Amino acid sequence: MSQEMTNLTAIVTGGASGIGAAIAARLQGMGASVAVLDLNPAGLPAGQLGFACDVSDDASVKAAIEGTVAAFGGVDVVINNAGIGAQGTVESNDDAEWHRVWDINVVGMVRVARAALPHLRKSPAAAIVNTCSIAATAGLPQRALYSATKGAVLSLTQAMAADHLREGVRVNAVNPGTADTPWIRRLMDASPDPAAEREALNARQPHGRLVSAEEVAGAVAYLASPLSGSTTGTSIAVDGGMQALRLRPV
Ligand code: NAD
Repeated sequence: MSQEMTNLTAIVTGGASGIGAAIAARLQGMGASVAVLDLNPAGLPAGQLGFACDVSDDASVKAAIEGTVAAFGGVDVVINNAGIGAQGTVESNDDAEWHRVWDINVVGMVRVARAALPHLRKSPAAAIVNTCSIAATAGLPQRALYSATKGAVLSLTQAMAADHLREGVRVNAVNPGTADTPWIRRLMDASPDPAAEREALNARQPHGRLVSAEEVAGAVAYLASPLSGSTTGTSIAVDGGMQALRLRPV
């Protein structure tokens, strides 16, 4: 996958941390010009263009996409990765919480795609990759809201693939298992015994450890690049075999 993305411009939402940062670095390493759209784009690696952007704010999404086009001349690849977690049941999460998380995890991806599609249609190598999750299909306890958003991302991926197939825009998703990112580290650190929590989390993974952000980025790099030119409307699990074994991470 050395220079498969030379002359291509990629947008990575949530690209300042965790999985998104690993994706941004990977695509940059493959030759892409990379724009990172993040709530806090401070401290990006050299060569990446950062935009302060909230995917739940349409105006800020439009401004960041237009800024990317002004800087790089177009958009070839969109990595819809920004997302937040939510714990609870349908009883413990109220309407406001449902709207807040849905607006980021689902409608955020819609907003970014909508603003980018006019530019993607002009690209000979257009691709969208949505960061989904094994939560989409795993039936996780205490994750009703988060799981529903990721289930929607999976459906959205398939429907968008159909809508934009003949326009030359491929749309795929990646389904990470529990990945070692600042988000998951924050959750572990908040527990009474972080070391024991980490050990327990590792033990729940089929391959005995968390997925790395770089492993997720590897799958995204494939789906985002011309290497997967005939692949659309599908998803790749990067979960150590969890889905295949019908296991759950919590
Ligand atoms: P993270 O918290 O480490 O990074 C998320 C990034 O998104 C941050 O830089 C944050 O500033 C940015 N962000 C959050 N809300 C935003 C908004 N409204 N607009 C723009 N940027 C915003 O998280 P991560 O673990 O790297 O997760 C990234 C994606 O991967 C999410 O969509 C998440 O649902 C998904 N995912 C994570 C895991 C995991 O175990 N870490 C597993 C499956 C799926």
